[in-house]
Amino acid sequence: MTAHKMSTRTKAWSRFTARISHEAAAAGSQIFLLLLAALLLGCKPAIQKPAPAKARAEHVVICIWDGMRPDFVTASGTPTLHALAQSGTFFTNNHSQYITTTEVNGTVLATGVFPARSGIIANREFRREINPLASFATESVEAIRKGDELTGGKYLGVSTIAETVQKAGFSTAVSGTKPVALLQDRFFGRSGTRDSLMLFAGKSQSPAAFAEIVEELGPFPPLPSTDVTVENVKPNSAQDTWTTRALTEVFWKNGVPKLSILWLNEPDFSQHMTAPGSAAALAGIANCDTSLAAVLSTLETKGIRDKTDIFVVSDHGFSTVAKMINLVAKFKAMGIPAGREFKWAPAPGEVLVVNTGGSVCIYVAGHVSEMIQKVVDLLQSSDFAGPIFTKDPLPGTFSLKDAHLDSANAPDVVFSFRALPGPNQFGTPGLIYGELERGFGTHGTLGKADVNNLLIAAGPDIRAGFRDLFPSGNIDVAPTVLHLLGIKAPEPLDGRVLMEALAAVEWDAPKPQSKRMEATRQIGALTWRQFIQTTEFAGHSYLDEGNASLEK
Ligand SMILES: [Zn+2]
Repeated sequence: MTAHKMSTRTKAWSRFTARISHEAAAAGSQIFLLLLAALLLGCKPAIQKPAPAKARAEHVVICIWDGMRPDFVTASGTPTLHALAQSGTFFTNNHSQYITTTEVNGTVLATGVFPARSGIIANREFRREINPLASFATESVEAIRKGDELTGGKYLGVSTIAETVQKAGFSTAVSGTKPVALLQDRFFGRSGTRDSLMLFAGKSQSPAAFAEIVEELGPFPPLPSTDVTVENVKPNSAQDTWTTRALTEVFWKNGVPKLSILWLNEPDFSQHMTAPGSAAALAGIANCDTSLAAVLSTLETKGIRDKTDIFVVSDHGFSTVAKMINLVAKFKAMGIPAGREFKWAPAPGEVLVVNTGGSVCIYVAGHVSEMIQKVVDLLQSSDFAGPIFTKDPLPGTFSLKDAHLDSANAPDVVFSFRALPGPNQFGTPGLIYGELERGFGTHGTLGKADVNNLLIAAGPDIRAGFRDLFPSGNIDVAPTVLHLLGIKAPEPLDGRVLMEALAAVEWDAPKPQSKRMEATRQIGALTWRQFIQTTEFAGHSYLDEGNASLEK
């Protein structure tokens, strides 16, 4: 017995205050806040065409704090970011793109298109032509090079904003502590202008610029020791500071380019080594704030702070593992021939399990349908699986397309671990099941703590003192940045320009609509029930959260 139904939980705004049905109660408080925001802004609940915007900024700086949750922006913990938010717009309802991990969102931030279109749907993927036996890291230099060779330069299906800005004749700077920064401008040196910078994880494709950086700052510092007890974890402040100084003190010496991207490793590093809210994580966040202060004061000194729009964004939120699951052991116990890699060319029906943090990608050799069903049966009888997405429709699952994961190389099954209520050992909300020891931080699920992430913008084009309650997403950053720079994207993008946050735009924003999609399946006496909730807004759809349960 299966059922697949879609219900709309949004009520007409005029009727909203008169009657809140218990079905809409969960979404009610959010909608009420949106209504309030709209009234405060003087928005009429009607769809009108956005007025043309006049951008004033000559520069855009995007600063990525890897894994930063919005609830850690405070006056005491992040004074610079807190003040920046006051002077600009805080996107309180921002969405990390599922699968809520670094490489997926690094690509989404770089391109403004869904994972299915860029081709990067996970931080580890399996593609036989790149590695016939095992998954590979999607941001690795080797995978990127081989992927571009195999596809005629289409490892990412569309252009990145750094490439687009360069093609328009301007220089760019990408400075990242982590390898993911390479995805922003991977052809550097082939199509990049000579006065641009491409720096990632202490390596560079700008030899001349790199030599100057090392001469001034010394070599890229080592990672803090990871061979320590949880209490003794130190944040990766040294590498983040070096990467920031490479941009602000060395590369910007000769001028600030049209677009600069600074990707910091914290608080992701400390939150993985401990969990969100630990002393190390808070120290990592404080150091990000110091880096941001350096960016702002350098722009100030150069007299261009008022000509620069600044975005501070994270790639994803963060959760804490409440219970450890060993998936391969569970599969094997059910007679599923599963492993983390193939020993030799797999026989049809062999199963490759690729952990990507809070979600898992499952590849079945030969796409043997009986084996795919067996995998899904196990997940739907479990206490740890959240929403399941399959390439081909199956009872009680969603399709990969529902989460924009239907890329050419997509796995047969993707599932998110289940999210749980309750705080972690530091009082930080957001617990999940995972393939990690209890008490450690990770991300990648459809739980709210992973999906809701940081986005703050400020500058001459950005509305001041605005708390944006409308849905936004990492996918909207690239279209907004290109809009502000007055540069047209070479192909249509999936994200939107964040009109409500632009100072020069009077926009009667349309009503956001919450939708809940459910899939159920009868498992003996129990019912498997999975849902995803999305919000539709201005012609765009945001995946808010998803979860699952097995009930009597
Ligand atoms: Zn990350």
